[in-house]
Amino acid sequence: MDPRRAAAVALLVGACLAGPAAAQAPGLSSFDPLTGPRSRLSRDWVGQRSLPADVPILVLAGHADSQGIQGPGTSGEAVARLGASPMQPGITDELYWNLAVARAVVDLGQRRGLTIRFYEPPLRSIANSGDPRTNWSVGKAHADRGGYVLEIHFDAYGPDGVGSGLIPALHRPFSQIDESLAAAFGGYPMWFRGGLGGPRRGISLLEIGKLEAPLEPALRNPASGSAALAAIAERVVTALELGLSRRPGGVGSGPQALRLPASSAGE
Ligand SMILES: [Zn+2]
Repeated sequence: MDPRRAAAVALLVGACLAGPAAAQAPGLSSFDPLTGPRSRLSRDWVGQRSLPADVPILVLAGHADSQGIQGPGTSGEAVARLGASPMQPGITDELYWNLAVARAVVDLGQRRGLTIRFYEPPLRSIANSGDPRTNWSVGKAHADRGGYVLEIHFDAYGPDGVGSGLIPALHRPFSQIDESLAAAFGGYPMWFRGGLGGPRRGISLLEIGKLEAPLEPALRNPASGSAALAAIAERVVTALELGLSRRPGGVGSGPQALRLPASSAGE
């Protein structure tokens, strides 16, 4: 099957599982007016494992412990190409926005009753990924205990970037939260780049979008930045709620909706 057809089928499967509410979500379009292009790589997985409605969710900001060392995240098109000043000296613009989105998601999620918290490493540079204070170590421990771990990222600008989408954790069968986030943001192949360090440790990575237009100027513009951030947080939290069947039309409600009435079941 050619990759685009495979992607369309995978999205269709996701939409069917997710029910009518998620089918109306912008997940079927390859371009979103706020977050820009979605991943066009084929999604070769479906998340069906249900999680308890009160599953502890841990949110991480990608690259929060790798500034000034390998893997600091993208500096974004504004800084790298257009001569803008970094949002905050000493950290990449990606980390600046990862932190902003992670905090906004946790604030909104807590107000909506989710069991959700943010972990921020105490240092911006931790060279040893096995240090117990890194995102990976804290995320792996949370995933090993059965919690859901989401690390926020922005993708590279220009041809190096793929687009928005979820790269699912690989430690257990894919969950309905993974499914719901992929329906909202797009999806990546399960073994993207051979299996990244985070997913191998049980951490799902969410690429919000490429750090370029239209997303980056919407965030940087003081007139639109807070609304853009709020819209992103709303999209993430709604997807989490749908993935936990805390809303009608959630991922878990699909099979029930499709179940035949007892009277019509053949013998
Ligand atoms: Zn990143």
